[in-house]
Amino acid sequence: MIILEALHSLNINELAYKHSLAIAAKNGQRIYENQLNLIKNAEAFRNKITIKTIFLNFWDEFVKIAKSKNKVIRPAITTAVEKMIHCKDLSKGYLFFECTKCNNFYIAGFSCNSRFCPSCGNRYREDRTREISKVCLNKPHRQFVFSIAKELRPYFLFYRELYDILFESVEESFDFLLKSSKIARKEKRDFGYVSFLHTFGRAINDNPHIHVLICEGYMDKDNLFHKYDHFHYEKLRKTFMGILLKKIYSVLKENHKNETQKFYELKCFLYKKYTDGFYAYGPKLENSSRVAVKAISKYIARYVSHPAIAESRIIDLDYIKKTVTYQYEPHQDDHTDDPNQKLGTQKVTESVFDFIAKLIRHIPDKGFHLVRYYGFYSNRTTKNKDKYEALYTIQEITRMKNNNYWINHLVASYHYNPLLCSCGATMTLCYELSFFPGGTKDG
Ligand SMILES: [Zn+2]
Ligand SMILES: [Zn+2]
Repeated sequence: MIILEALHSLNINELAYKHSLAIAAKNGQRIYENQLNLIKNAEAFRNKITIKTIFLNFWDEFVKIAKSKNKVIRPAITTAVEKMIHCKDLSKGYLFFECTKCNNFYIAGFSCNSRFCPSCGNRYREDRTREISKVCLNKPHRQFVFSIAKELRPYFLFYRELYDILFESVEESFDFLLKSSKIARKEKRDFGYVSFLHTFGRAINDNPHIHVLICEGYMDKDNLFHKYDHFHYEKLRKTFMGILLKKIYSVLKENHKNETQKFYELKCFLYKKYTDGFYAYGPKLENSSRVAVKAISKYIARYVSHPAIAESRIIDLDYIKKTVTYQYEPHQDDHTDDPNQKLGTQKVTESVFDFIAKLIRHIPDKGFHLVRYYGFYSNRTTKNKDKYEALYTIQEITRMKNNNYWINHLVASYHYNPLLCSCGATMTLCYELSFFPGGTKDG
């Protein structure tokens, strides 16, 4: 649940802010700073151009245009957008907190908890990070990235079932690396890894690729762990390309016959063009201490759950021309230190409807998993990894969970507790004045 700050929702002018600050100051530095941060955040919220503002103003028109062009909007998109639009909408319910000492109060609307919603996305990301952290062993890990030829991107846009194929191709490529020998099969060797699908690049463009967080080792049929840290890149790249192209071809042949001939030609062309296979890269970490492994696993888990665009990158919304302006740092700039080679921050101004279309494209269908667990990191595994130390202790995981409780989350991210009253007392939930239209539920 995210807070709708009471002063803000009631549109109380600056004088009220001053007043509450003056009272808070009397009650000590801690109470004063808490109040100051609360006000700062309410104002920052108001001045920013948010994704929600854009959808509130232009979504209905977008739907009308789509209908007039006979374009179908997937049900998952409608659900995610509606949820976000009504996030913290007080008419959909709220918790009412009051201060028994001074009559002050605080109204907290329910958040939508949707991944697509920028104000809930952070907590979604933290939840995701925790789930991933929970399965990892205290062993060295590394990250792999599997990209596809840009010529294939349009197919993924039209045939969303290919995203499953992408996951399967990565899985089968690792299987080929580890399990192709007779002895490996006899020993029932298995890696442990997590795959993450990312469908966009930095310019919110379509760029389906997979990140893998893999433990550098395999387990055998006796649950013994063996170190494995020499991944044969060339073999992996070529295998990945071969499997992927073969699989796409058979999906098209099965379900989209009219595409088969064209794709067959493309497939032959790609084999000639990408003689080294598709990009698949996973450098060994120089530091494999527990701290470093935690850092990389957290980084990947957070990075891959980030939204297609951070709101801070949106710099203008023109209501008359119906355009959005946003900026991004091009990926190419990461790979060069030469200032003459750097492209620098790129600014894009485009129709608000094109912008919306680009964003919603990345909303996954209901039930589609963007994060998948494999081998001894999967909960279907027959391997028993109990005797190996986990990357995080149970206490650490519990702490992560508590930090994500909505108040703790506000304290950690924005440095204020909305329930700490300016008079110094703590507000308590008033059940009678709270509103639960759909029955009681924890936001
Ligand atoms: Zn009070
Ligand atoms: Zn939300």
